[in-house]
Amino acid sequence: MEYFINVILPIPLEKLFTYSISKDEAQILQPGIRVAVPFGKSKIYTGLVHAVHTKAPEVYEAKEIHQILDDTPLVTPYQIKHWMWLADYYMCTIGEVFRSAVPSAFLLESETLILKNENVEIKDSELKDEDFLVFEALQHQPILKVHEVAAIVDRKNVLPILNRLLAKEVILLKEEIYAQYKPKLIAYVALGDAYSTEKELEALLGSLTRAPKQSQVVLSLFQLQAVTKKPVKVSDLVERSGSSTAIIKSLIKKGILKDYKIQTDRVSFDKDAPLSNLKELNQYQKTALDSITTSFKENKVTLLKGVTSSGKTEVYVELIQKCLEKGEQALYLLPEIALTTQLISRLQNYFGEQVSVYHSKYSIHERVEVWNNVLENKSKAQVVIGARSSLFLPFSNLGLVLIDEEHESSFKQFDPAPRYHARDAAIVLGKLHKAHILLGSATPSIESYYNVQIGKYGYAEINKRFGNVLMPEIELVDIKEESRKRKMKGHFSERMLEKITETLDLGEQVILFQNRRGYAPIMECNSCGHTPQCPNCDVSLTYHQHRKQLRCHYCGHYIPLQESCQACGSSELDTKGFGTEQVEKELNTLFPETKVGRMDLDTTRGKYGYQKIITSFEQQEIDILVGTQMLTKGLDFRNVSLVGIMNADSLLNFPDYRAHERTFQLLTQVAGRAGRTKKRGEVLIQTYNPYHQILKQVSVHDYDGMYKEQLYERRQFKYPPLNRILKITFKHKDYNKLNEAAEWFGKGLCNIFGENVLGPEYPAVARIRNQYIKHVTVKIGKEASLGKTKNSIKRIEKSFNAIAHFRSVRVIYNVDHI
Ligand code: ADP
Ligand code: ZN
Ligand code: ZN
Repeated sequence: MEYFINVILPIPLEKLFTYSISKDEAQILQPGIRVAVPFGKSKIYTGLVHAVHTKAPEVYEAKEIHQILDDTPLVTPYQIKHWMWLADYYMCTIGEVFRSAVPSAFLLESETLILKNENVEIKDSELKDEDFLVFEALQHQPILKVHEVAAIVDRKNVLPILNRLLAKEVILLKEEIYAQYKPKLIAYVALGDAYSTEKELEALLGSLTRAPKQSQVVLSLFQLQAVTKKPVKVSDLVERSGSSTAIIKSLIKKGILKDYKIQTDRVSFDKDAPLSNLKELNQYQKTALDSITTSFKENKVTLLKGVTSSGKTEVYVELIQKCLEKGEQALYLLPEIALTTQLISRLQNYFGEQVSVYHSKYSIHERVEVWNNVLENKSKAQVVIGARSSLFLPFSNLGLVLIDEEHESSFKQFDPAPRYHARDAAIVLGKLHKAHILLGSATPSIESYYNVQIGKYGYAEINKRFGNVLMPEIELVDIKEESRKRKMKGHFSERMLEKITETLDLGEQVILFQNRRGYAPIMECNSCGHTPQCPNCDVSLTYHQHRKQLRCHYCGHYIPLQESCQACGSSELDTKGFGTEQVEKELNTLFPETKVGRMDLDTTRGKYGYQKIITSFEQQEIDILVGTQMLTKGLDFRNVSLVGIMNADSLLNFPDYRAHERTFQLLTQVAGRAGRTKKRGEVLIQTYNPYHQILKQVSVHDYDGMYKEQLYERRQFKYPPLNRILKITFKHKDYNKLNEAAEWFGKGLCNIFGENVLGPEYPAVARIRNQYIKHVTVKIGKEASLGKTKNSIKRIEKSFNAIAHFRSVRVIYNVDHI
């Protein structure tokens, strides 16, 4: 009898590929084991066994596999089932899902690039002969391809060698390598606890009359505190008092001064530290927890709607605890940018080593380690906290799936396939495991809230902030009026400046939000109206003052700043619109004494860029933080009492049916950064349109009002959650061909779906990286069969591909496009 396996290859093939195996191999192989297989003329891929069988393929002769790579499955049956669902639902191939689901170290193939790991000391004796040959070659040549390695060791299949070297961390794969960031803690000083009253103080100063140096230190500490109203750094005190760290140390020893570090509870996890007890929930949290538990008993997906800072995280912690007590695994899913060290440490304080973190900024080794820990159900990986890719991990007994900030659109993968929504894919995963599933948000997505309204989801809510801190007070500032009266200073209204000054005077911090980076999005010639455009994309270049460049935010193309107009030569160039860089610049002029920080894509690129800025803001080295969307998520800064939105209008005017929902969510989330602990925070929203319905709803925290209105509109125009949306994108570098192709395909769709087809139409940016783009949107009624609809579309694609002229046009499906 002949034996075969069906293999999932990590490439976009419609069908699984069949290879022949020996009888012995058939004994060992089972679904989920990796095999190295030849493909095409000369390629080698790492494939995944999907099934072992005895049926030869009909149209081709099955090739033999090169090698078996695992003793036991690396991927569980749950996963394969889940991936099949993903491929089917999101209209892509299982191979594409496989590729994006596993760490790249598991997918060695002939084209993989290999580097030497400079950070590891290797003793030659530790390596097998063949491994050593590769190691040695890397001393002379910085990068090798897998097939070059094959030539070096003179054998066809080298993946086992490379897997060994990877495991020993001798080699790295070429992709960016990140490591974990440990913030450096700054030491601060204050007066000792024994000197809190004036009387005690006087006595202290009296007793120090004969120690002038020490008394100088104490006096300087007073002065510094009076001036800055902020925690005093040891280094600043040394400078101010003209003394030394030794003197300060001796004062600390005597108890006259005390030193401390801000937020020591947030630093990276200390294995020997005792775990904290769970916090006692307040009555609102308890009520919410009860509702959740009841709803879980009915096996319902449940939505927790809790205002910002209401203590949702502590409720999650209770649920995780219960899950662990049952011996089950918990998955805590978050948008990438909300995955901060703040939150991770908070969980580690409760669950210690049981917490694993998984996201794309971690090195391959860390990701492989988490994968294996989850696969082996190790105690180290009982709670996995991660970004969307963590739902691909090999869970075997998942008991709880938490999806925090469920409304976040970054949960949807945009490119490449699978273009999945992590929230929805996680719900499906949870159901496969019969796990409890909880969605959480202060501003739920319209679709999740809708699911609650129609009784599909269970529901719990917390309407009070923890500690009864009031919701921030939100004020709309009419900048149309102020501009007319010429009261604006740059992009700041009088009111905004007044509030910033007040806040800084109290020693408190400010967050300012502007949703564009760079200095100005448009540079325009005053004489002829010319604006510099990207040669590769249909978009104007953004002015970056700091780098003296004009840059394209779509393809990265840049040119040096122009002194004069390229069209007419005039030197009267003007800018239009503004970004974070300009806000920062203006602040530097308006508040020269104040330390301003900026958090956007440009300042957070480096390895630890993001963490560094957060840490220095926490440690109050920065007084005003200007930033984009990045500021909005999950950050808990204790000393921020004012949040300013520089311009709400650009959010509202975004050409998208979700623009209003998003604006509500974004503004509410940013506003939620204000006044989280002691006193009530304030939020100022600058706008030309203070009567806009959405802004009014934001200002009075009227989520339900927003929901009702948006739902009405969605119903009118057949958008989600009442209909599904499938967006089909066509891309080609030839403008005419793209138009013909999109027209052809669009007609085919219209014949079947009639008025439910929108387009073909150009998006706002109709050419990116020299590819022209057109979209067609198909609205699919909830009553229609999604499967049948997709099949009809696939049939149109088949005929489309049969036309030679169209074959090079890329067709991309985005199911549930958001
Ligand atoms: P959310 O996730 O809803 O924004 P958090 O869980 O971050 O809110 O809670 C806000 C703040 O209140 C945090 O500093 C948290 O430590 C504190 N907090 C929440 N619940 C409790 C509790 N039951 N006991 C003590 N502190 C709590
Ligand atoms: Zn460009
Ligand atoms: Zn000009």
